[in-house]
Amino acid sequence: LPTVAIVGRPNVGKSTLFNRIIKERLAIVEDRPGVTRDRNYAPAEWLGHKFHIIDTGGITWEDGKIEEEIRAQAEIAIEEADVIVFLTNVVTGVTDLDEKIAQLLYKADKPVLLAVNKADNPEQRSNIYDFYSLGMGEPIPVSSSHGTGIGDLLDTIVDNFPADSDTKDDDTISFSVIGRPNVGKSSIVNKLLGEERVIVANMEGTTRDAIDTPFVAADGTKYRLIDTAGIRRRGKVYEKTEKYSVMRALSAIERSDVVLLVLDASTGIREQDKHVAGYAHDAGRGIIIVVNKWDLPEKNSNSAKDFEKVIRSEFQYLDYAPIIFVSAETGQRLNQIPELVKKVYANQNQRIQSSVLNEMLLEASKLVPTPMIKGKRLRVYYMTQVKSNPPTFVVFVNEPELMHFSYQRFLINQLRDNFDFMGTPIKIVARKRK
Ligand code: GDP
Repeated sequence: LPTVAIVGRPNVGKSTLFNRIIKERLAIVEDRPGVTRDRNYAPAEWLGHKFHIIDTGGITWEDGKIEEEIRAQAEIAIEEADVIVFLTNVVTGVTDLDEKIAQLLYKADKPVLLAVNKADNPEQRSNIYDFYSLGMGEPIPVSSSHGTGIGDLLDTIVDNFPADSDTKDDDTISFSVIGRPNVGKSSIVNKLLGEERVIVANMEGTTRDAIDTPFVAADGTKYRLIDTAGIRRRGKVYEKTEKYSVMRALSAIERSDVVLLVLDASTGIREQDKHVAGYAHDAGRGIIIVVNKWDLPEKNSNSAKDFEKVIRSEFQYLDYAPIIFVSAETGQRLNQIPELVKKVYANQNQRIQSSVLNEMLLEASKLVPTPMIKGKRLRVYYMTQVKSNPPTFVVFVNEPELMHFSYQRFLINQLRDNFDFMGTPIKIVARKRK
């Protein structure tokens, strides 16, 4: 979905505008300076266009200087938004800080809309022309507290969305069931859907296409199950089908939010399982490892633990993926799959507030010193989440080259320790503080 960011110096009315747009009072509105607010992020909708809106105000960190704050706001907006709303205030007129923000936003290669707040009456509206001096095009008068002009602003925002950003319907969780032939993918799909929709064959190399099935769980959650033909073994006879089915599997992974990687408890882990797992991991999707045919092996109280150990050592890069032991034959634990998919989906779509992230960063800096390369030490200024699904964080630092992968790994582990990111990969990008 497209993202809209509101940027502006303190007390121009960013939170009030934010609240107007989301029509909920999520942000704390305080009409006095120096109040700590948090960056807010919320879904919004205008004339059928869904989008996300961010109030970039209120990122606080150590020195807490206003110049630093607006710089961070601008950087985040430039990084994250499809459309930036630069909010000013007609009562105070154009200030030095407004000009500084304008300077920062000139760098953005995305639409910046200049909105002038507190244009509550005709006299004030006639003063908005002063704001042309910011070089941001035509000023749009609004009154966040009265609600006037908001519709026109939203029309302009929506007009500036990128052309292809409106397509995905957001409340359906897409997941696919992948794995090498015969691990039991079709059987799992059949049981999950509770009907014999997909043909189960006890024969390797049976060609099936990807079949998408939407269904609604008892709790009302909407899912789309993307079935695949499986990723087939290379061989002369199936060369063509192999390529085709790998392609189909890749496209299924691409279209999925969450991927179920099915392993076969009766055969153990094979080379081909690792190829399949690699595809899913590289795509940055949520992953759940499903050990199927759990009815077959002779078991004692340690069997699951032992199998888990093998999985963890064979798929080290999937350390974030939960493991579930099921049987498509007996139905054991299959009913837990939709819940687990939903949980992973929630984890990969969560947004962590910047203030919370920066508290974490501060604590982390006490645990481990930042890396030093050739006498130069990495300085980490602040961290912000720029994307979800998969959760992606930008850390602003003095020199990105000093961000050693071990420190990146450490930060990822800190994120995992502090928040629930089970099932989802996490990305961290180091950016030079401008
Ligand atoms: P796919 O190629 O991954 O779609 O695998 P299928 O769903 O076609 O299953 C392959 C074979 O394994 C079939 O004979 C299934 O009946 C059998 N099978 C699937 N799941 C289980 C299970 O949990 N337990 C047992 N015992 N057999 C299973």
